[in-house]
Amino acid sequence: QFPFGRRLPCDIYWHGVSFHDNNIFSGQVNKFPGMMETVRKITLSRAMRTMQDLFPLEYNFYPRSWILPEELSLFVTEVRTMKDSNPSWKPTFIVKPDGGCQGDGIYLIKDPSDTRLTGSIQSRPAVVQEYICKPLLMDKLKFDIRLYVLLKSLEPLEIYIAKDGLSRFCTEPYQEPTLKNLHQVFMHLTNYSLNIHSGNFIHSDSVNTGSKRTFSSILCRLSSRGADVKKLWSDIISLVIKTIIALTPELKVYYQSDIPAGKPGPTCFQILGFDILLMKNLKPMLLEVNANPSMRIEHEQELSPGVFENVPSPVDEEVKVAVIRDTLRLVDPQKKKRKDTHLSFHTYLLIFPTQLQSLHAGNAGMKDKQHKHHSLKLSLKLKFYLKLGSCQSLKQAREASEELPDAPKSPEAALPSLCLKQVFPKYAKQFSYLRLVDRVAALFIHFLGVKGTTKLGPTGFRTFIRNCKLSNSSFSMAAVDILYIDITRRWNSMGIDKESGMCLQAFVEAFFCLAQKKYKSLPLHEQVSSLIEFCECRLAALHGKRLLWGCG
Ligand code: ADP
Repeated sequence: QFPFGRRLPCDIYWHGVSFHDNNIFSGQVNKFPGMMETVRKITLSRAMRTMQDLFPLEYNFYPRSWILPEELSLFVTEVRTMKDSNPSWKPTFIVKPDGGCQGDGIYLIKDPSDTRLTGSIQSRPAVVQEYICKPLLMDKLKFDIRLYVLLKSLEPLEIYIAKDGLSRFCTEPYQEPTLKNLHQVFMHLTNYSLNIHSGNFIHSDSVNTGSKRTFSSILCRLSSRGADVKKLWSDIISLVIKTIIALTPELKVYYQSDIPAGKPGPTCFQILGFDILLMKNLKPMLLEVNANPSMRIEHEQELSPGVFENVPSPVDEEVKVAVIRDTLRLVDPQKKKRKDTHLSFHTYLLIFPTQLQSLHAGNAGMKDKQHKHHSLKLSLKLKFYLKLGSCQSLKQAREASEELPDAPKSPEAALPSLCLKQVFPKYAKQFSYLRLVDRVAALFIHFLGVKGTTKLGPTGFRTFIRNCKLSNSSFSMAAVDILYIDITRRWNSMGIDKESGMCLQAFVEAFFCLAQKKYKSLPLHEQVSSLIEFCECRLAALHGKRLLWGCG
């Protein structure tokens, strides 16, 4: 626990809920600024929509979504058009309140005219999404997958995926949605927090039975049925990389605002929880990204009415201990030193088992102010090296921690192989062409001018147009101002935040607009990449030297 008044900096700061800058000038923080905001349901859907507009085939792993209330009429007309063109299409939609979690406030509807929808959307912004009606079932039950992803660095982009995850099962046999069963949450929603209240929930000591199992146990069963699990993994890896590519532009804007380049500050890393649903044909679909996945390794058991006890959950322990252990191994600041100097280390980082229990994230839906109060600030000074490697249980972990002084001289050798697999930059070649919005964000950040802001003022926008020589006789500076005002006003009226000016997503919209104007006949992604190249060249010429733009 980082005591108030402590002055000495730490190597690693472990914040409980979100990044908050407590005058941290060095070291590494386990949260990125703005991650909570970036993965909220509405923001994520917007970022995915932008990518779907640019690369529809590559981003077809995210269900078609509309943002309410602002896109209600679009939702109604698009669904009507699709139904008219394909009368056999009998869709179901899932409505999810923005900022909700653990299934809170979620319901299913069959038609956009449903009164539940029209009655509630004015009071609570939400995402309405096409419901995946044909999920893969196991033992007749719907389940989803929670995978842990480490975003180790934003610039350069470094992504790791945990080789094992969790599968969370529904507790009522699945049936395709009908008006009669729409409200049956134990059949349609896989949330642990909901299903735990069902009489059918099975806590299990084994990793391949019960209502929560390891993902590897699912893969084993699929493989024994002859499924191509290698292809499934590669589809999941590609889903994860593409999703992070969709999130990075926004994250970079937050990052430069909280940790401006050139000033002393920490670097960041973050463990994310990816919720994925497998369709019957084994296609993985992204449901959501959790900035603050629960790291609890125990669950509550009701011993007698009203009397609860925390008992270890072997499935959670198996997956989560490895994720935290290996995250710390990867961000270990001593590692490089050790490599460089060939020192033999007798020192160990000790994450006390009790701390591991309390590293569980709180409620992802908590309001921002609450975060700061509820944040558990665990600062782990890396003077010890991690020795939780082969611990199967808390008891063993405790024993291991007591053994530390006599531990072997090469701690890495005593640890199991890493459970986190690097996927980026490893597969960068395959995916870098998707990083267009990153380059638009680099332009945006360049013209922000004042450090510490996330919004572009009218002067910054004009400077962008002038420096990139985008105005001409058919696109006057007056038209530029109108474009700025139109788009900015619309985005700000959506009430996303109160700071005035043009946010990144509004800038991206304006940029796409300019690209369409300039390169009419090309597909959108070629229009956008042509305009990016045009702007980058203009700026490079202006600065008299070749600048390193974009994703590097
Ligand atoms: P929350 O943050 O409240 O858990 P999710 O987006 O994860 O919200 O949705 C809750 C549950 O609803 C998921 O775990 C999944 O079982 C189900 N679900 C969500 N979206 C869909 C969808 N598009 N199709 C089918 N099931 C879905």
